[in-house]
Amino acid sequence: MASKPWTLGSIRDMNLQLQAACREPGCGWTASYDVNKMIAEFGADCELPTGQGGLACDDCGAPVDFGLVALKKSA
Ligand SMILES: [Zn+2]
Repeated sequence: MASKPWTLGSIRDMNLQLQAACREPGCGWTASYDVNKMIAEFGADCELPTGQGGLACDDCGAPVDFGLVALKKSA
């Protein structure tokens, strides 16, 4: 079973929202990203920066976890 890495394009196609949350339990920092804006900047084939050297918390600098949340369909 091959596991395909998430790309910005696949997130958009599945109508998901990309969110990040700080791993530091006492911090509570979260952010949500505009996938369409990221595609405009990085391209739809860009893989999520989930590995080492990915994004860090704006508040405390700890690593962040990414999560995908289903968007409500807007008519
Ligand atoms: Zn933090």
